[in-house]
Amino acid sequence: MPHNLSIGELAERLARKETSSTELTRHFLARIERLNPPLNAIITLTAEQALAAAGAADRRRAAGESGPLLGIPLIHKDIFCTDGVRTSCGSRMLDNFISPYDATVVARLKSAGAVMLGKANMDEFAMGSSNETSWYGPVRNPWNTAKVPGGSSGGSAAATAARLAPFATGTDTGGSIRQPAALTGVTGVKPTYGRVSRFGIVAFASSLDQAGVFARSAADAAVVLAAMAGFDPLDSTSVDAPVPDYAAALDTPLKGLKIGLLREFFDGLEARNAALIHDAIAVYRSLGAETREVSLPNLPLSVPTYYVVAPAECSSNLSRFDGVRFGHRCAAPKDLMDLYERSRGEGFGAEVKRRIMTGTYVLSAGYFDAYYLKAQKVRRLITDDFRAAFEQVDLLIGPTTPTPAFDIGAKIDDPITMYLNDIYTIGANLAGLPGLSMPCGFVDDLPMGLQLIGPHFAESRLLNAAHRFQLATDWHRRAPRGYQ
Ligand code: GLN
Repeated sequence: MPHNLSIGELAERLARKETSSTELTRHFLARIERLNPPLNAIITLTAEQALAAAGAADRRRAAGESGPLLGIPLIHKDIFCTDGVRTSCGSRMLDNFISPYDATVVARLKSAGAVMLGKANMDEFAMGSSNETSWYGPVRNPWNTAKVPGGSSGGSAAATAARLAPFATGTDTGGSIRQPAALTGVTGVKPTYGRVSRFGIVAFASSLDQAGVFARSAADAAVVLAAMAGFDPLDSTSVDAPVPDYAAALDTPLKGLKIGLLREFFDGLEARNAALIHDAIAVYRSLGAETREVSLPNLPLSVPTYYVVAPAECSSNLSRFDGVRFGHRCAAPKDLMDLYERSRGEGFGAEVKRRIMTGTYVLSAGYFDAYYLKAQKVRRLITDDFRAAFEQVDLLIGPTTPTPAFDIGAKIDDPITMYLNDIYTIGANLAGLPGLSMPCGFVDDLPMGLQLIGPHFAESRLLNAAHRFQLATDWHRRAPRGYQ
């Protein structure tokens, strides 16, 4: 069935005219209609536009054009602005917002001929680790619908795992691609800060946000990342560096690759999770990689550091939602203050309000030095730790999450416990480094993720290391029951 084929296989069939984009698009739309309701992974279906885009892709192929994504369906996280389509960011605040333009990522994938099927559910304004803070209700994990899919890009991850599309986009501010990829058993790539344009992505924490991809293999992710990445004059933090040929580097042998085992990631790691990571390390050794232990002494400070920096930035970014210009406006405001207060009070959910209040507090005159400035200093120490580690090794390896997917409702009332889910992913965001998560086994019948972190702009190396692992193992080929 087409939903089990890789992007490369789909593109070959399209090139040989054995199928058409229209046929593929119909197939995936039918899967979404049938399989999405219990998952709640997709909150906007754009069937009509998708069939029009598929027809256009078919005409481009008929006219002799080719391309690795020409006619391939995808799903966008609902944080990406999509021209003429609701862009809710999982919030009541933007429930009525029809974007008047495309994010750069959306525009690039469109011009590559990829076909958007719809928009994926997500934690409200990308704040969360379980996809339970969405205004549209929680997303459920296709491996076990009593469990969360991870967050904040939970809809994109669940949709990819359930084979509702060959790939999906996501964003990762503190782990929101890698963490849900791990909990749903797919491959997720968070590129280097600045590698992919942030233009048209609803801003959460601008110094941390980065867009990336969910796919079922590193080889598929390489094709998608190549189309997304690259300089964008519309994003002042976009880096003007050439995009390597990720696909061409996938097969490079790993002989001599120096892999660092992060001591801080293994301290206190649950035994069954640790066993899977050690099995994966053994696979890497058999492929010729060398391993050594490295330590990042300041890494244990990454969660508290992030939960000062990210709320500070979000409190500023979210001040634009005032009930005046766009988004939710309360009914019959008495005066301007009432308009602001009730529009924001009604439009934002509890977690977003908590972040805005924390962020405003750490930026306030009396506390700025003690919290925000201090956090920025620790952020630099963590970045320096990574830099020192990458003088000894080519990439770092460890778990993506402390546990497999947990029950819906289990942590939502305890923010600190929820925040600790991201203990292994946040460091890479603070340092702006690329990271990747891919499946490496199961605990309690739920997938677990292996995380690779590389130096700045080492996406090729990460994808190569992941691809070689996936050639030697078949964890990434497992599909949840009912979605094969
Ligand atoms: N879970 C983290 C948070 O709640 C990270 C979210 C993200 O990467 N967008 O902020």
